[in-house]
Amino acid sequence: MQQVKGIAVSRGIGVGKIFIRGSAEQAPQQQVVKDITREIARVEAARVAAIGQLDDLYRKTAGQIGKAGAEIFLAQKTLLADEGMAGQIRNLIEGDAANAEYAVYTVGERIAGRFAALDDEVMRARAVDIRDVSRRVLRNLSGKEAVLPESDEPVILLAEELTPSEAAQLSVRRLAGIVTGRGSANSHTAILARSLNIPAVTGITPDLTYNGKNAVIDGEAGTLTLEPDAAFTRKMKKAGEKEEERRQTLLRLKDVPSVTKSGREVKVVANVTGLLDTEAALDNGAEGIGLFRSEFLYLETNVPPSEEKQYAVYRAVLEKMGDKPVIIRTLDLGADKQVPYFDFGPEENPALGYRAVRICLNRPDIFRTQLRAIYRASVYGKAAIMFPMIISVDEVRRCKAYCRQVQAELRAEGIPFAEDVPLGIMIETPAAAVISGKLAREADFFSIGTNDLTQYTLAIDRQNPWVADMSDAHHPAVLQLIRQTIENGHKRGIRVGICGELAAEPKLTRTFLEYGVDELSVAPSYILPVRSEVVNAE
Ligand code: PEP
Ligand code: MG
Repeated sequence: MQQVKGIAVSRGIGVGKIFIRGSAEQAPQQQVVKDITREIARVEAARVAAIGQLDDLYRKTAGQIGKAGAEIFLAQKTLLADEGMAGQIRNLIEGDAANAEYAVYTVGERIAGRFAALDDEVMRARAVDIRDVSRRVLRNLSGKEAVLPESDEPVILLAEELTPSEAAQLSVRRLAGIVTGRGSANSHTAILARSLNIPAVTGITPDLTYNGKNAVIDGEAGTLTLEPDAAFTRKMKKAGEKEEERRQTLLRLKDVPSVTKSGREVKVVANVTGLLDTEAALDNGAEGIGLFRSEFLYLETNVPPSEEKQYAVYRAVLEKMGDKPVIIRTLDLGADKQVPYFDFGPEENPALGYRAVRICLNRPDIFRTQLRAIYRASVYGKAAIMFPMIISVDEVRRCKAYCRQVQAELRAEGIPFAEDVPLGIMIETPAAAVISGKLAREADFFSIGTNDLTQYTLAIDRQNPWVADMSDAHHPAVLQLIRQTIENGHKRGIRVGICGELAAEPKLTRTFLEYGVDELSVAPSYILPVRSEVVNAE
């Protein structure tokens, strides 16, 4: 018996034989083509075929696990149907007389690389989705199908990387578990694995000597046990049954309001990046969206998203959420989240530099476009606006002044908007937490961003692996700032939520309840575990 440790991705216990999937396709060589028109037509045909396949995959997966789990394929289709990616591929073919395969691969890698470099794990995980799209187009260009394991007995699949479409195709087979070398708990493959209820672990490099061996995967402990003895297998199967019971119990909380035993309501809402995870949020019983990271819209294209494009996305999310509140955070680019079209130049300390509201207040063109889009969409639901990285009262006043300006503009143009959109701020700098009493006079609500608050309070770069071990969001200094912010907000009668990763730690839920928090905003998959803590608290 040998045990290998990885990173837990999707809970559950699986018993089966290991199957190692071959590594991903090789990078295509660049060639100079004579017939550019033909090359563009080949890409077009492959693109149209890929869009059709993604439609089929969406329908099939939605039938299996519901719309939320399948939504990734609609998002991939949008990416492919969008002029952004197609235009870049065409430009490369036309500009360099490049072959279609090379152009598709290069553009896919370019966009994926941008996401892979991000600090935010959710955003980083998008790189795999984008590679999945470009590989699909490449497969259509070559006419070759993806290689999938053929097996009738339960299989634990090992692969260096598994894309969402591969995972979805595998779902029909008897998959006891998925183990990948690369990946993250927030990738769409991970999300799919969780929706499909397949145990999954990442961070274990597929070793060819494992192939064909019996194994047990434990998706919660993040382990793979090779050649387990009978007693261990029996014990793990029992644990698997218990886990399934726990899952069923949590699911019963989906439509239960988040109210403590003593009757206090503490809403459990979702952090999302767009329409894709809004479905997942609803499927997990979200009582609203506590953080819509709008920068995702800016990261997925090569040009700034137009007012129209932003309006369409905000409207769709608001409509989907109906009468549930949706807090849209204004642009939080800079530092870890860079885009090519705003060339702000290199910075010595980007996390302390030109980012978020600092950019917006310096670039009214960008800021006003976004505010117009949000206000226009506000008539379709219950929108709120939130400003990130605030350090002063003056910044809040200036943000609000832009809101008033945009409202006046829309009024003059006869465009409807909701008059009562609450304007809140993120408390994610120690400065903001310290002066939260003053800021509470200016803001309609607070949302505490514990990721940045921890980074800036402890002076530990979120992105630096050398100090990652030292980053402790439970540090008394961070907890004290959280408590103080909640108290100061309440003194002024405004609601205070927490939307950083810390909000999703069920072990801290009771502490936050004691502090008086009004709302916890977490990734969709954490809504039910956190709600379970709330409804069981006094
Ligand atoms: C935070 O800083 O806690 C936060 C929620 O914002 P982001 O992680 O997007 O910086
Ligand atoms: Mg932040």
